[in-house]
Amino acid sequence: MFQSRNMETKHYDVFVIGSGIAGQTAAKACIEAGLTVAISDKREYGGTCATRGCDPKKVLMQFADVMQNTTQLKGLGIKKRPKIKWKAVKKFKTSFTKPVPTSTESDLKELGIDLYHQSPKFISNNEAMVEGKTISADKFVIATGHVPRQLEFEGSDLLKTSDDILNLKKIPKSAIFIGSGYVGMEFCYMLSTMGCDVTMIEVGNNALSQFDSFLVEKLVEVLEKNGVNFMFNTNPVEVKKLKKNLKLTYEKNGKTKTIKARKIFNTAGRVPAIEKLDLEHANIKVDESGILVNDFMQSTSNDNIYACGDVSSKSLPLTPLSGLQGYIAGHNIINGNKKEFKNPLVPSVVFTKPQIASVGYSEEEAQSRYKNIKVFKGDASDWYNAKKEHAEAYAYKILVNERTNKIVGAHLLSSQANETINIFAMAINEGLTLNDFKKQIFTYPSYTNDLKSMLKDED
Ligand SMILES: Cc1cc2nc3c(=O)[nH]c(=O)nc-3n(C[C@H](O)[C@H](O)[C@H](O)COP(=O)(O)OP(=O)(O)OC[C@H]3O[C@@H](n4cnc5c(N)ncnc54)[C@H](O)[C@@H]3O)c2cc1C
Repeated sequence: MFQSRNMETKHYDVFVIGSGIAGQTAAKACIEAGLTVAISDKREYGGTCATRGCDPKKVLMQFADVMQNTTQLKGLGIKKRPKIKWKAVKKFKTSFTKPVPTSTESDLKELGIDLYHQSPKFISNNEAMVEGKTISADKFVIATGHVPRQLEFEGSDLLKTSDDILNLKKIPKSAIFIGSGYVGMEFCYMLSTMGCDVTMIEVGNNALSQFDSFLVEKLVEVLEKNGVNFMFNTNPVEVKKLKKNLKLTYEKNGKTKTIKARKIFNTAGRVPAIEKLDLEHANIKVDESGILVNDFMQSTSNDNIYACGDVSSKSLPLTPLSGLQGYIAGHNIINGNKKEFKNPLVPSVVFTKPQIASVGYSEEEAQSRYKNIKVFKGDASDWYNAKKEHAEAYAYKILVNERTNKIVGAHLLSSQANETINIFAMAINEGLTLNDFKKQIFTYPSYTNDLKSMLKDED
């Protein structure tokens, strides 16, 4: 067949590939149900969110927020902007990430899960090779997440990724980001706020294409005022190493130009991490969205395989969704296919300042779904909450189905949008009407209380 079989063989009920939130959730459910379980991860245990994604990012980001707050309040009682001691900031961040691999491994071992530290390669529909052993399993769970998209131009191997940003030795004097998705925008905000001269290169004509453009344009304006140089409709074509800097050649409006910076980051999106698995040997079908799964999180082409988290074709790359998919995959392995993944309502946020957060339908989606929608849209930068922070941007767009009077989408730009969006998530999930929502009493003064004012009809 594909390679000669090793003498050493081992069988598990369930073999999980990837130790992030999705893989761990599925593995823990299976071992607790009395199945024999193993996990393999080719990197440090714990997955992206805890070791090189959401959690360390937010630890660093709060220092950027302090800088941004003091910039906003400078001259109003703040004399000087504080200075960032990056080494100390990083040490604090590392205090969160460093313990994760060891504690994850010991938790999993304590539960009785066998651990492997390599990428398995499938050799048949229910067998894989790992660490020189042939592993057979009744079910495999693939939970390998995403990796940065490789850019295909001369010198693209010189580009750094989000992993490198989290581990920078110092704040670079200058940086270029290629790609203005949420990871690029968050780190571009962070570095520029901490004194780095930042350029954002984007092939499209606006940033954050998944978010509402009315709000995105306001965020871009704030970041531009903070010194970020946005270059839209711009195609990177080559990177070269100079003595101190890197030189990026780009095309814009039919012209070829160059720009230099100390670092260039590839933030042009992330793709399913499936390269090393030899999926074709197990008849596992994939497309660019990931491993093709049905609503039970089971491969559409091989019943022995489940896939969950970022790597599945049904995922938005967000931690809460990956956890939910891991739970569903585990549950279905234990009990037979009973639980379905039915596109739950998922709020998402860009942790800049101000933040953009969103839940439910976009305006275009709502328009195509419902006969008539009501759009509550406004600039709230002269409202008390924004004024007291001396914040330049505060805005909203909320969508209501006119027939039922129910809220169906909410899009917020504010310094507290990451929290207040959850109120709308609950309102949409519970089917609240405008009147139900406006009846609530919230704390005052608070951003939550403003949500009711956003839903006022214009006089
Ligand atoms: C910089 C950054 C910031 C983010 N911020 C947020 C945020 O604020 N909020 C949010 O909700 N989400 C955020 N995310 C996304 C979030 O981290 C992911 O959605 C989540 O971690 C996915 O979990 P997972 O279990 O599917 O995959 P992962 O956590 O990526 O785990 C996959 C594991 O599989 C391993 N693996 C990969 N290939 C193989 C292989 N061939 N063999 C063995 N092991 C393999 C990997 O090493 C990894 O440990 C962020 C991501 C990044 C990169």
